[in-house]
Amino acid sequence: MQFDVIVIGAGAAGLMCAATAGQRGRSVLLLDHAAKLAEKIRISGGGRCNFTNVNARFDCYLSANAHFCRSALAQYTPQDFVSMVERHGIGYHEKKLGQLFCDEGSERIIAMLDEECRKGGVDRRMETTIMSVARAADGGFEVDTSRGRFSSSSLVVATGGLSIPQIGATPFGYQLAEQFGLAVTPLSPALVPLTFHVEDAEIFTPLAGVSVEVEAKAGKGKFRENVLFTHKGVSGPAILQVSSYWQPGMELLLDLMPDGDAESWLEERADSEQLIANALSELGWSRRFADAWLDRVGMNKRLKDLGPKQRRQLAEQLHRWCVKPNGTQGYKKAEVTRGGVSTQALSSKTLMANDAPGLFFIGEVVDVTGWLGGYNFQWAWSSGFVAGMNC
Ligand code: FAD
Repeated sequence: MQFDVIVIGAGAAGLMCAATAGQRGRSVLLLDHAAKLAEKIRISGGGRCNFTNVNARFDCYLSANAHFCRSALAQYTPQDFVSMVERHGIGYHEKKLGQLFCDEGSERIIAMLDEECRKGGVDRRMETTIMSVARAADGGFEVDTSRGRFSSSSLVVATGGLSIPQIGATPFGYQLAEQFGLAVTPLSPALVPLTFHVEDAEIFTPLAGVSVEVEAKAGKGKFRENVLFTHKGVSGPAILQVSSYWQPGMELLLDLMPDGDAESWLEERADSEQLIANALSELGWSRRFADAWLDRVGMNKRLKDLGPKQRRQLAEQLHRWCVKPNGTQGYKKAEVTRGGVSTQALSSKTLMANDAPGLFFIGEVVDVTGWLGGYNFQWAWSSGFVAGMNC
């Protein structure tokens, strides 16, 4: 069967692209090997889908080419997606930091995109295994599948990244890129909890479940959010954010008193009989965390027992507590994959491969990785729309 466009991957980006192309009057076939549509939308945002971030800008994304995502984000903005959500009567709210969530379940977003595809007359086939993709003699594409051979003049690859393989993630998109001569940048799990060496993990085991507000820093990433201690290491929004900037061997710096000047705070209390742990609890620290952390840095004593040098050392520890993760929890726990199809090989205006006419890559499979907080879906919508307008 012949179509104008075949889209492989019925996730966030693929659905947006198929709907856009279909509504332009293109005949579109949307293929996916999974039984259920858009599983990642379903499980996203704790089941409520953090579907965009009103502050999405190019500098909220990691990529070998930091400016690549600018054009797509300008062509289809967070407000454009919000307008679609409003047109479908879906309730939403801002949780924090520009993050928009559905009032009800993420299913509403999936149903909305499905409805938009129906409006565009998109032919969708789930549970379809893609066996091979080849250039046709006429310059188009031939896709051999478990449901037969399909041909098209444009082919859009929207197969996502490697995270959560248990719900259908595969390296298909990267392999197809390489088949057509496009480079793929190094891949790694991102927005992922970090793990400690066993001996460090043991020290923090009693803290599992404790959450503290910090400024976390790794490489060029710096985020003010909560860190959550777990049995294996650290998680929580601050850690997920910096994990995208963290590389093996790198230290993680945590500022545990991001609002204040720890040295003056300690000096003001230099004559106090109070235990340092109690004083820190008054700042909002959990007593459990204060005791464990002070034991760890060897300073679990009274404020007046600190000499000037120890005060300086403790202040330094409070502002620059250094922990050395030994790894991440990997793709099973990562929200996204960092790296992907090289942006050098694609047009930022259309998402089409520069040297493979008619072949497009969109969404997470591309080397564009957003921060935590709705940025990754916005990239999926923007890149999907742009390819949908040009395929
Ligand atoms: P996907 O949505 O992953 O879609 C890829 C599709 O391709 C899937 O349907 C898959 O079945 C199909 N596919 C894969 N391989 C093949 C193959 N070989 N043959 C056929 N089909 C194939 N981002 C946010 O912005 N906000 C959030 O709240 C949020 N929460 C998240 C929560 C979790 C637990 C996870 C894992 C991710 C979350 N993300 C969130 C990230 C977001 O889900 C992804 O960035 C986004 O889904 C990427 O869209 P995509 O269309 O590129 O890929």
